[in-house]
Amino acid sequence: MADPVRVRLAPSPTGDPHVGTAYVALHNMAWAKKNGGVFVLRIEDTDRTRYSPDSERRIFESLRWLGIRWDEGPDVGGDFGPYRQSERLAIYKEHCEILLAKSAAYLCFCTAERLDWMRKDQMRRGAQVGYDGHCRMMPPEEARKKQSAGEPCVMRLAVPREGETEYHDIPRGRIVFKNAAVDDQVLLKTDGFPTYHLANVVDDHLMKITHIIRAEEWLSSVPKHIHLYRAFGWPIPKMCHLSLLRSPDRSKLSKRKNPTSIEWYRQQGFLPEAIVNFLALMGSAMVAGKEEPEVFSLEEWIQGFDLSKIGATGPIFDIKKLEWLNGVYMRKLPSETLAKRLVDEKFSPPELTGEKFQKILPLVQERLKRLSEFKELADFFFAAPASIEPALLIPKGRDSTSTRQALEKILDRWKGLTEWSAGVLEASAVEVMQQLGWKKGEIFMAIRVAITGKTATPPICDVCVALGRDETLRRIENAQKC
Ligand code: GLU
Repeated sequence: MADPVRVRLAPSPTGDPHVGTAYVALHNMAWAKKNGGVFVLRIEDTDRTRYSPDSERRIFESLRWLGIRWDEGPDVGGDFGPYRQSERLAIYKEHCEILLAKSAAYLCFCTAERLDWMRKDQMRRGAQVGYDGHCRMMPPEEARKKQSAGEPCVMRLAVPREGETEYHDIPRGRIVFKNAAVDDQVLLKTDGFPTYHLANVVDDHLMKITHIIRAEEWLSSVPKHIHLYRAFGWPIPKMCHLSLLRSPDRSKLSKRKNPTSIEWYRQQGFLPEAIVNFLALMGSAMVAGKEEPEVFSLEEWIQGFDLSKIGATGPIFDIKKLEWLNGVYMRKLPSETLAKRLVDEKFSPPELTGEKFQKILPLVQERLKRLSEFKELADFFFAAPASIEPALLIPKGRDSTSTRQALEKILDRWKGLTEWSAGVLEASAVEVMQQLGWKKGEIFMAIRVAITGKTATPPICDVCVALGRDETLRRIENAQKC
């Protein structure tokens, strides 16, 4: 029987939680779910110069917000922990000893100055840049002696100099590389921390990872990893390198061109399900046989998910498409869910009460493309306009006296109404309009501006119903004074 599928996401906590991390996470989670397997989250924090303590928490938070869940990890535990590489240093040291004993690795005492000189010399000669093997020839006893005497050193992989090695990448097929082109990679640094390469391979093996699904940028590391797996005598997991997300101009997605932090999208009022749909849509084809094949839930996507369907071209991260998808999801949200999201994500004024909410939400929902637009679209529900622009209030070709009179008439009529409904309000406003010889657009715009201070709002008579009689009349009275 084949080994149970085990996949992993291995982020380095070095900065903002990146949309690319979520993209890779989704693919891993989907493959685990599709196969009844296990999804592991491992924190790769061995690069202490780039490590940021806050970043791990923010990565967890952002992934969880998107609905991404892992079965094993630093925060949820599991049988293969610890899941933070900085807590596994003894394991890496032990594996370094194994490699040294097999002569698959060696200690290197070259100073930074020598390495710098070597690199410059190689560049000057137009030769391949990489470690020149200076310490590779040193007898192991001599190297041990130097190490015991406290001389700073690193450990390097002794990559075979001749021959070729090949491997299979799921989207790209067979890949062959010349061993001579592979550098004698540093595995253990002077600070006693492993490099990404050693820790990554050791952990993928010890955590019984069956499929490595990660970003394309790691493709060039695979040759080193293959040599490491071979040196240990371990089986090589299946590999699937996902093409990098690209900006619409096809360049690599970068902060300068497009926001890349998941937190930014959250702060901008995007919905997690829209982002997930968007990322999934980029990863593989739409869910076929659906009425809206581009709009699907995570579960639907997972059902049709297959690693072998993943292509090798870079999907385009088109924020306009995300905005469109977000609008689709915003309109679909049940009112109570929308209300809860607005409050939870702090996009609504705290004084919002349940009853008022129910009246105004349906009025603005249709026009909301992001949660963050709620404040701007709905602010007039919570407070009367601080000031009213006469240029907006007074219809073109009319003057302030006639506008005031029109509002006075509306006020008179509306004060006497026994029923406060949109239909009744509209009918009486139309009567006033006819008496005055105004156009429909003129009278309703004057009322709209008087009540909201704005020229674009949901249907104004609905707004008046939501505000209630007293508040509406008070606002018209105030507007007359301006
Ligand atoms: N730590 C690497 C990263 O930050 C992981 C690469 C891999 O998945 O092997 O993306």
